[in-house]
Amino acid sequence: MSEPTEITFDIVVSGCAASCWHCYVCGGPTTFMPTQNFEKVCRFVDEFKRIAQAKEITVYPYLDLEPMLHPEISELLSLVRVAEWFSLPSCIPTTGMPIAAREDWERVLESYWGAGVRQLEFTLHGPEEIHNRAVSRKNAFQSHREAVRRAKRCGFETKLNLMVSKPLLGRFRQTMEAVDRNEYDYQRAAIPHYAPNERLRRFERHRPQLRDVTPYQELLQQFCNDEARDGEFWRDIADFTEQSAYRELLSNEDTYMTYRQVIETLPTWYFVAVGPDLDIWYGNGLHRTAKLGHIGRSSPSEILDKVLKEHPNFAFGGYFPIDRLPSPIEVARLVAKPIGDRIYQDYDNCEIHVMWLDQYLMKHPPDPRFPTKKGRP
Ligand code: SF4
Repeated sequence: MSEPTEITFDIVVSGCAASCWHCYVCGGPTTFMPTQNFEKVCRFVDEFKRIAQAKEITVYPYLDLEPMLHPEISELLSLVRVAEWFSLPSCIPTTGMPIAAREDWERVLESYWGAGVRQLEFTLHGPEEIHNRAVSRKNAFQSHREAVRRAKRCGFETKLNLMVSKPLLGRFRQTMEAVDRNEYDYQRAAIPHYAPNERLRRFERHRPQLRDVTPYQELLQQFCNDEARDGEFWRDIADFTEQSAYRELLSNEDTYMTYRQVIETLPTWYFVAVGPDLDIWYGNGLHRTAKLGHIGRSSPSEILDKVLKEHPNFAFGGYFPIDRLPSPIEVARLVAKPIGDRIYQDYDNCEIHVMWLDQYLMKHPPDPRFPTKKGRP
């Protein structure tokens, strides 16, 4: 396996204001991280980053889920601002709900601006009824609208991430009217990722099929400002279906003899998450697999050693006991739908394999005599 080069260190200081049907990090409500715990996390990640750097590994600290919900977010951001090792991305995602609900929203937005954030990304799932259903909150659509207005007033660029589902495509005209009213500065459209958890398994019924997208394919292609990154996805949408992945597998069997062989071709990327209680997990957001330790009881070098023992990355995310599984070809032959036309945002031609493997493991759970790590299938 290739050496790791990147680790995302997710710091979960709060949960989410919503619980979205497409969420692969399983965001939802959780407790707030006390400020003194956040200070401990900062010291820990600082040292973790230094030790990792000596091994030529880059660590990206990230405030995941909806940190704007935290009552002391401005204080937390001021700690981030003075830490040389921790810079926030210039664009951060939000539902907009805390911006619409907080009385001190202007102060919060000023704190983000002071921490270097210049663009806020808002996800929209369709017109009001669909959006509220998708994020499981009654007033989410109105909050989104108000937050976009407030963000613009404070000088932020606003970015739309249109999350395309079957219900959205069924109300495409009304969706476009809602988009036009909000006048975002930048827009893209995407299909939700698949991940092996209950929420994403439930989402499958809303996942668009090729036949749902075809009437709107050209419009979606033109809708995206970034032609290379997003427009091409919609242009080539037929390449992202289950049937296309199955055809690809059958015509390149040599490439799918083992999961380890597939993983070798993927970018190496590890995810670590620390929650309000200072427990450290392999995973991101609230989507976690193995528990790695606890800040206060484990040292940064112990945690780094444990992280590096996990299977990296990205699509497989350390979820599966890959060395004890049949080959990707056998798994696909057992569970794939050869004419399935559901669409996946399938980077590196791997996400559909994760979905097949997840289905396979639900039908054929691993032998209990060989227990897997806590939380794994
Ligand atoms: S998509 Fe974002 S806002 Fe929605 S539950 Fe997930 S992390 Fe939270």
